[in-house]
Amino acid sequence: MKAMEHLKTITHHRYLVRQHCFRVGLYWQGLTHDLSKFSPTEFLVGAKYYQGDRSPNNAEREDKGYSSSWLHHKGRNKHHFEYWIDYSRGQERLLGGMKMPVRFVAEMFMDRIAACKTYQKDKYTDASPWKYHLQSRLVHEIMHKDSLRLLEHFLQMLAECGEDATFAYVKKYLQHERKRARKQFIENHIKGRKREK
Ligand SMILES: [Zn+2]
Repeated sequence: MKAMEHLKTITHHRYLVRQHCFRVGLYWQGLTHDLSKFSPTEFLVGAKYYQGDRSPNNAEREDKGYSSSWLHHKGRNKHHFEYWIDYSRGQERLLGGMKMPVRFVAEMFMDRIAACKTYQKDKYTDASPWKYHLQSRLVHEIMHKDSLRLLEHFLQMLAECGEDATFAYVKKYLQHERKRARKQFIENHIKGRKREK
């Protein structure tokens, strides 16, 4: 059991994501990011299969054929596109990625940055998350096209313009999105009701 090492890894990851999220105004998500990793279902697996350089979920998967920890995690954390897999209404597939709310795409973006910083240490550059993204096949096949496009937009901007400019842009983008959602809500519920009368 490597409980202390695993605890340190989670705490450090949460610290990085929290810092990034706060810079774009995502305070609640920054504070609650990955909290389910402290539940016994996830924590005990993490401590038992601790690897240091890769996810313990992979080791559990190789051992048991599936990862109970990952299934628990992705079912509770909306910043993973896997959370948004549902029955697809399209013809091609039975299951597919649904469109993610923008604030969770932003949290996913911060999660990627933090993971790259942890794994690549002093080799990390602003282009690392974009390069990592290009190699992951799964995300391109399953994630909803609109959400994927937005994530890639953020990742490319980070690679080209750096953290300060990109985070300021994401913050504005989220503010704009909140305004749009509020307007839509009013339109659907208040104005719609007046029209019914
Ligand atoms: Zn997570």
